[in-house]
Amino acid sequence: MESVKLICIVCPQGCHLEGVKEGDSLTIKGGCKRGKEYAYKEITAPCRLVTTTIPVRGGVVARLPVRTSAPFPKKKIRELMMFLKSLEVQAPIERGAIVVNDILGERGIHLLAARTVALDGKSSGKS
Ligand code: SF4
Repeated sequence: MESVKLICIVCPQGCHLEGVKEGDSLTIKGGCKRGKEYAYKEITAPCRLVTTTIPVRGGVVARLPVRTSAPFPKKKIRELMMFLKSLEVQAPIERGAIVVNDILGERGIHLLAARTVALDGKSSGKS
């Protein structure tokens, strides 16, 4: 038997929860239904929203803030960060635009632009 203690972050109550693993079964002790769902997911398949910045060519700023559209599997976040290091986008780009669909094969999880970046007039080819 293995026990995992965690604090629920679903609402401000911050209840203490405990997951008890016995063989293939996982029982969540404490909390409400939403808290139990959170604890089950956190123990079996933890996910996190990922935010970072990537380079943007020809924009009024050099980097574009991006975020995942939904929590991303924690076990693949290192791979995601390596992938994002190789990514670059071209201005202009609108806030909310999808930069990458189904990122790293995660269906329904997209990489989104978190702000609008307009074209930089200076980089329009006139020099
Ligand atoms: S278990 Fe329920 S009441 Fe407690 S923090 Fe989580 S969501 Fe809120």
